[in-house]
Amino acid sequence: MTVNGNKPKFAMYWAASCGGCEIAVLNIHEKILDVDANFDVVFWPVAMDAKYKDVEAMEDGSILLTLFNGGIRNDENEHIAKLLRRKSKILVAFGSCASEGCIPGLANLSPVGEIVHTAFNTITTDNPNEIYPRVSFDVPEGELRIPKIEKVLRPLDLVVDVDYYMPGCPPESHQIAAVVDLVIKVVKGEAELPPKGSVIGAGDSTVCDECPRARNVKIIKEFKRIQDIAPVDPTLCLLEQGIPCNGPATRSGCNARCPGVGAQCIGCYGPAEGVMDYGARLITAFSSVIDATEPEEIDRILDGIPDPTGQVYRFNLAGSLLKANREAWKVK
Ligand code: SF4
Ligand code: SF4
Ligand code: SF4
Repeated sequence: MTVNGNKPKFAMYWAASCGGCEIAVLNIHEKILDVDANFDVVFWPVAMDAKYKDVEAMEDGSILLTLFNGGIRNDENEHIAKLLRRKSKILVAFGSCASEGCIPGLANLSPVGEIVHTAFNTITTDNPNEIYPRVSFDVPEGELRIPKIEKVLRPLDLVVDVDYYMPGCPPESHQIAAVVDLVIKVVKGEAELPPKGSVIGAGDSTVCDECPRARNVKIIKEFKRIQDIAPVDPTLCLLEQGIPCNGPATRSGCNARCPGVGAQCIGCYGPAEGVMDYGARLITAFSSVIDATEPEEIDRILDGIPDPTGQVYRFNLAGSLLKANREAWKVK
């Protein structure tokens, strides 16, 4: 894939996200030198000064690899997603925000007006005249324009065609390094890319399969928050201790990082292979361990999960079968 002996071009972009994915790429330590040695970094706003017009001037398909992190929340995100799709041979939805909406996608539960009102008129905001941002503002020098927020946040593949998905909030550094290695090998003709649409930089089973905790028969009489259990057994499956752990529905690849150090999995690697809807699979997994048959008793046990939406759709609401609540907010 080397073009006329020149180094292939690499781009990275940050849409609606926290920036953690960008830091995760820098966290690959000396491997970042491989990126520099093997790629011509042409666009990476957080790391270098490049302008949108520079990308617009490039030939279509001239960027070999773009890692796109963040969901699509405003018209600028959408414009750049479409621009980078046109310019890139390989477009990777990088991290949970781009792949499935992640935490920013939880805002899809609220109408845009409420989100803006909360952001600009809270008890901690000094805004006595209730001044809100405007998309367009005339100043002596001309028109100032800021991006227009959309009604919902969409994962990248609801806006453009995506070649690969790399899960994680953020993706684990060892997984990023492995993907960089793979792409370098592909460029050198030493390896082939996986089939389009594949999940890369992750495993193909569940976090439970990587988890070092002992698993027996799970029967739960109540769910509890981890901070309300003392002591937590350091070796036994957390779910068996009544702690809602998302491991059974979550894709492997992080080496069970959280249960390995005493915290429950909250699902940042997204749905495991073959799971159509993350929340539905997790509710099934939780339901299957409840030791009760009477509806009232089942309700009482489930009430032990104080934030059901946050528990089962913390990372996946915008990418779930519910999509982005598109019908609710009438987005085409
Ligand atoms: S996936 Fe997580 S770390 Fe990456 S941008 Fe989104 S919130 Fe931040
Ligand atoms: S439910 Fe959680 S603690 Fe139990 S085996 Fe799975 S990942 Fe480990
Ligand atoms: S254990 Fe779960 S929440 Fe923790 S890093 Fe792995 S997938 Fe993410």
